[in-house]
Amino acid sequence: MAVVETRPPFTVLQGQAPTELFAAIPTPAYVLSEAQLEKNGQLLAQVMERTGCKILLAQKAFSNYDFYPLLGKYVAGTEASGLYEARLGWEELAEGEVHVFCGAYTDEDFGELLSYADHIVFNSIHQLAKFGPAAKDAGKSIGLRVNPECSTQEGHAIYDPCAPGSRLGVTRAVWDKEMTEELLELLDGLHFHTLCEQDADDLETTLEALTEKFCDILPRMEWLNMGGGHHITRPVYDLEKLEHCITRAQNLFGVEVYLEPGEAVALNAGFFLTKVLDIVENNDYRIAILDGSAACHMPDVIEMPYMPPLYGEEAGQEGGYCYRLGGPTCLSGDVIGDYSFQEELHVGDLLVFGDMAIYTTCKNNTFNGMPLPNIWRWSREGDFHQLTHFGYEDFKMRLGK
Ligand SMILES: *Cc1c(COP(=O)(O)O)cnc(C)c1O
Repeated sequence: MAVVETRPPFTVLQGQAPTELFAAIPTPAYVLSEAQLEKNGQLLAQVMERTGCKILLAQKAFSNYDFYPLLGKYVAGTEASGLYEARLGWEELAEGEVHVFCGAYTDEDFGELLSYADHIVFNSIHQLAKFGPAAKDAGKSIGLRVNPECSTQEGHAIYDPCAPGSRLGVTRAVWDKEMTEELLELLDGLHFHTLCEQDADDLETTLEALTEKFCDILPRMEWLNMGGGHHITRPVYDLEKLEHCITRAQNLFGVEVYLEPGEAVALNAGFFLTKVLDIVENNDYRIAILDGSAACHMPDVIEMPYMPPLYGEEAGQEGGYCYRLGGPTCLSGDVIGDYSFQEELHVGDLLVFGDMAIYTTCKNNTFNGMPLPNIWRWSREGDFHQLTHFGYEDFKMRLGK
């Protein structure tokens, strides 16, 4: 009955069952692990040390700034998608560099952005022409996002900036049509972002395509930003190949290399806690209704889509007790997935999903008036601190006076 996909196993926590470890935390809630963030940070710092590249935290994936003092020991700075994230990085990870890429900047925002950002990356030659001179006068390092037109992923079309018709990045054809020597003079670097949860072989392929298209430009640049999507902290990731790609670009073009992963910084560093509110049946299906919602609290489960790892599930096992897990909202598709367990589920049971730090706390919503789950810090010493106190006001304040 249940279609159980293969997916990464739930990361076991210091030998203790997470359902016991987290038993006292009211649900729904996110628990963010300092120990795992630190482990990820150390690995990224080692890559920087061995290659001389700089790695930034892409805040759109993870922006729980209570953890920036910890991450700031390991990353070189932050990457922002626009004014607000740039300001957050500037305020909360003050010792790091602030980089920003936005599909298009507004006149209203740009002046203020100049007070936060160190690197400003444009998405088009028009935007470079419009804002580049002011940014240069303000002493900023200026980049242009290029599109190497090299798709290396099939699974997630909405995360493929190289798909036909993409609005992200300047193709070589457009470059040749619009670039002038004067505008090229403004540029300090090139930026590309084409990967999503990918390994270094796809980076290697992309770099070949980039080199083919922009080999005359790259040696004139000071830096090359290889974007995010590098799943560097995943256990089977090919670190050696990544480092080879970095040093090759450094040697070939004489550029400083930046990477700006989001996921890799906070991979496996969060848990989502939710309780079973009811169990209903529909023909062959047993369905557990939870106090957590895919649509509201883990939106990428639906958008990407994917099934997160769940503690205690029998991944890939036939038989056992199968349940479809879903939220209490009105959306028929508010389903996390079909999971099978060794034992029957009961009302009140605590379920703990893994890898819930990324694209969750910074992407959730209050659709249906769902409460925002509180965010907890799981400290290295092993204790829990509640970081937020969300309530009705957080729902209401976004909707009116
Ligand atoms: C999304 C994004 C990132 C981070 O991507 P991850 O998949 O979370 O590593 C970095 N840079 C840019 C420009 C992005 O759009």
